[in-house]
This record gives sequence, structure tokens and C-alpha cells, in this order.
Amino acid sequence: MDKNKLSKKAFAESQNIFPGGVNSPVRAFKNVNSLPVFIEKGNGAYIYDLDGNKYIDYIGSWGPMILGHANSSVVKSVKQSIKNSTSFGAPTLLETKLANLIRRNFPSMEKMRMTSSGTEATMSAIRLARGCTNRDKIVKFEGCYHGHVDSLLVNAGSGSATFGVPSSPGIPKDLTKHTYSLEYNNVEHIENCFKKNGNKIACVIVEPIAGNMNCVLPDLKFIKKLRSLCNKYRSILIFDEVMTGFRVSKGGAQEIYKVRPDITTLGKIVGGGMPVGVFGGKKKYMDQLSPLGPIYHAGTLSGNPVAMTAGTKTIELLSAKNFHSKLENKTKKLMNGLSNSAKKYQIDLLTTYAGGMFGFFFTDKHKINNFSDVKSCNNMLFEKFFKIMLSKGVYFAPSSFEAGFISSKHSQRDINYTLKSAEEAFKEISREGL
Ligand SMILES: *Cc1c(COP(=O)(O)O)cnc(C)c1O
Repeated sequence: MDKNKLSKKAFAESQNIFPGGVNSPVRAFKNVNSLPVFIEKGNGAYIYDLDGNKYIDYIGSWGPMILGHANSSVVKSVKQSIKNSTSFGAPTLLETKLANLIRRNFPSMEKMRMTSSGTEATMSAIRLARGCTNRDKIVKFEGCYHGHVDSLLVNAGSGSATFGVPSSPGIPKDLTKHTYSLEYNNVEHIENCFKKNGNKIACVIVEPIAGNMNCVLPDLKFIKKLRSLCNKYRSILIFDEVMTGFRVSKGGAQEIYKVRPDITTLGKIVGGGMPVGVFGGKKKYMDQLSPLGPIYHAGTLSGNPVAMTAGTKTIELLSAKNFHSKLENKTKKLMNGLSNSAKKYQIDLLTTYAGGMFGFFFTDKHKINNFSDVKSCNNMLFEKFFKIMLSKGVYFAPSSFEAGFISSKHSQRDINYTLKSAEEAFKEISREGL
């Protein structure tokens, strides 16, 4: 019996109407030469597909579901909110409430604006930075993802001093020539870039813990260098914490590293699974936005009442004492367990984690610093491992370039089951020969 029969049928149909059958490319499972399963429902740490297969979910909608799926308090408050209408396009108290909660945890966000996605937040943050500095050039890092914004979909040119090139057709070179794409964790690259172009650079945007090239931790000296260079050259430092905000700790990576950016972008968790993004920072910059200032930003559904409600309830619940230390203990147990069991079968595996996010790399390297390091990992092994785990009911991200996520609902039992399955997977892989 084919245990993915209904998913296969659904995928055949969806391919007739959505390019690649999906509304966001990674969902198509192409990176692992596989077919996606169609999800019907979720509860806590589990999701269920159309064929009734149950999975322990380590994607969590790519980050938002830090309380697990269908958290009863979140569902209840959303239901209550919907009764009063789903949108007004007018101010509500719900927006102020969520914003205050956010600012309590991210004091660097003196003022903020709501958007409907992380992409919108980073796009608006870049415009704000350019508008405030009256400069065009921006700096990003290879392997960091900031949404599908034109000027951020850029590959590195040759060498740190050259302009980036579009990573997708449809993006004018005239635009990406304003973007420098440098190596993550490389202090020398960023120093040289500023030395040459510092007085033209509007902003540096960075994932202070990178979660879109698997999970790559920064060197503290790299993060501190970004801060000091931006100070020196009067450029704006943007921390894109769409993924890490409320995920690695309540106050994001900026709380962990004690480095204060000028502007922060948030998303994912702050919407509690509803479409939300936020950008915010120094008052003197934020007050340049319309209608106070000349820099334009708007949104029909920005600050949507249902989304604000879901986000507020989610943040209230994750503000419980020791929430993140408990979460990190589970992540740690999972990652250490994976490392140990890979070692047992002579498979080289490197693991990383921060709070409720994690990464694992099939590599014999002792540290992963940047996108080239990630690309050098053994993708074939990842693919085999992914497929075996999925067949055992463990749903990891279908790409070795994505981070994994854990929720407060993942139990010790779930982790033990995952580790037992991983051990079987490593055994099978090693028996087949690497
Ligand atoms: C997910 C993500 C985005 C984009 O957010 P969307 O809501 O998908 O538009 C931007 N930056 C980072 C760091 C992300 O992880």
C-alpha cells in the first residue's frame, strides 16, 4: 500500500495551478529529490498529512510555531478577535499592545511599524535606511536571506570590493550594483568594503544568527565589527531577526550578543502563525516615515487585528519563566544525541543550536563559518537521512540549507523517538556505504 497516495494525488493537481505545485519553492521537496506531503492539521509537536501519517514537526512553519500547533490559548483568542471582524484598516488597541510587548523585549526598537510579512519588513527597513542616510549602497552577507526583496536577491561578485549580481532573473543589474554581498563572519571583507566605500553605504543588513543557510553561528567579533564600522561611517546597522526574534531568546540575538542595532526586523513568531512583519528602531529614523516624514511605507492589512491578537498571545505565553532555557535544553539534547549517534556509525556530523533553532551538517569540518562552508557539506548524505527520517515520521526541513525548529510542545519522548530513528537511519546509511 502506498502510504502517500493522497499527497501524490494532491501534488499532481496542485502542479496544474501553482508553479512547481507550491506557493513557496522549498515546499516542493526538490532539494531532496522527493515529493511533498500535504498537511491536513497540526496539534502540538505533531502534524498530520492527508493520508493520515503523523510526523514530529521540526519545521514549525519555518519558525513561527514556537508554542506548537493549534495552541489552545492562541486559538481561543483568535476566535474571539475574528468575531469583531477580520480587518478595519484603521487603528486598534491591539496594535499598540503587541508593539509594547515587542519593545519591552527589544528596547532598541524605540518605534516600529507593522507589515504583513518579513519580506515587507526588510524591504521597508532598507528604504528607510537609504532615505535617512541619503545613500544608495547596502551591504548583505552571502547565505543570509532577507525575503525576496529585489536588492537583496544578490550573489557576491568576484571579490569583496565588487558589486553583487542578481540571483534571479527579473532583477535589474542597475539595482543590484548598489548591493555588496560579502562573506559571513569575515571581518577583513567588511573592513575593506567600508574602507573603500564607507561614506556611500546606507546600511548593513545581517542575520545575527544565520538561519537560512542551515544554522550558522556568528563570531562575536564579527558582529561587534559591524557595529563599530557602522558607527564610524554613520551607516545604519539592521539586524534581521525575522527568524531569531523570540526564537533564540526573548530579546533575540541582540540580547544574547549585547549588540544594539539601529533598526531591527521581525516576523514569524511575532505573528503567532498569522502573516506579520515588523520593522523598528531608533526614533530619529522611524520618525522619517510618512505621515511624519517623507519616506513612504503603507499596508492595507498592516496591523491586522487577528494577526496582532495571535502574536500578542504567543508572546505572552513564551514570556513564561525559563521558557527559552527549557527550549534550549531540548534542542541541545537533540543535537548532542544526533552527533553521538552519527559518530557511532563513523558519519561526520556537525551540529549547531541557539535557543529553539538548530542545524546539522554532514561535514568533517569542526566549524561552519559561512556559505561556502555550508555548500561544501555532503548533500547526498543529507538527502538519504532526510528521506529515512520522513518515512519514520520525523519531519525535518527538506533542504540542507534550512535551519530546524523545536517548540515548547516537543516532549522528551518525541526527542527520544527522533534520536532512536536517527540512529536507525545512520545505521542504514553506513551499511549501504557512504
Ligand atoms: C523568513 C525570513 C524572512 C522573510 O520573511 P517572509 O515572512 O517569508 O517574507 C526575512 N528574513 C529572515 C531572516 C527570515 O528568516
